[in-house]
Amino acid sequence: MRVCLFDENRLGLVENETVRDVTSVLDKLPSRRYPFPQGDAFIALLPSLRDAIATAARSASTKRLSEVHLLSPVANPSKVMGAPVNYQKHLTEVATDPNLHHQNKAHMQAIHQSGFFLKANSSIVGPSQNVVIRHPDRRTDEEVELAVVIGKRAQAVLAAEALDYVAGYCIGLDISIRGPEERSLRKSVDTYTVLGPWLVTADELADPSHLDLQISVNGELRQKANTRYLILGIPELIEFASSFYTLLPGDVLLSGTPEGVGPIKPGDVMRASIERVGEMTVHVRAG
Ligand code: MN
Repeated sequence: MRVCLFDENRLGLVENETVRDVTSVLDKLPSRRYPFPQGDAFIALLPSLRDAIATAARSASTKRLSEVHLLSPVANPSKVMGAPVNYQKHLTEVATDPNLHHQNKAHMQAIHQSGFFLKANSSIVGPSQNVVIRHPDRRTDEEVELAVVIGKRAQAVLAAEALDYVAGYCIGLDISIRGPEERSLRKSVDTYTVLGPWLVTADELADPSHLDLQISVNGELRQKANTRYLILGIPELIEFASSFYTLLPGDVLLSGTPEGVGPIKPGDVMRASIERVGEMTVHVRAG
């Protein structure tokens, strides 16, 4: 199942080039009183809403996919976790380029040493909302990554069981200002976390360990790799993350970017794709 949020927070079921409007299903979510529980209420209940989505889709109004304004498929994660350097060739690229590592040893270590960083939730947008460059004087790069969306509460999960905790997958762009500051600052600018084009539920993608991923900028291929080259695979990332954080439904884990990162500027058009997930076009705008 491919679910998206589109236009004015409509819920959509994506089938081929069509979006079926199944927003009525959101009426089944419980009403909440403040303080609201953390995590994404829709993602938490998605397994029990699947039948209702399928039923609503039968009589749903439809739009062409090319006509809709795609938002992030996850509205309310409690956190976005990023794997900083999780492809060996990207580690080599960072370690050998002063413009990427800025003499900061923490930027030259593999994930075993550096662990995760967190991105502000306020940086999340969908593919139709554009990346808006905040500091045009600073080098700002694209990073394409497989994004994992957690489906249920996870604490100290073992890798062997970790995929049971996945709701689904989407493409993640971890837009990053290069420089000496903490990653959580440089990567948390508004619009610098792009998630889309939709959530592919885990039942459609049982094995995330052999997926081609790539991104082009203005038609020129920048990054092209396969998730088989991840230093820590998705199960190991979930084990690692859940040994530090309680993972909640809707939490997003950006699994790391491969080699080939490069600067983006206003006017650029990024086209990212991940095998069996989909592809999306994202425009870069001036602030
Ligand atoms: Mn990244």
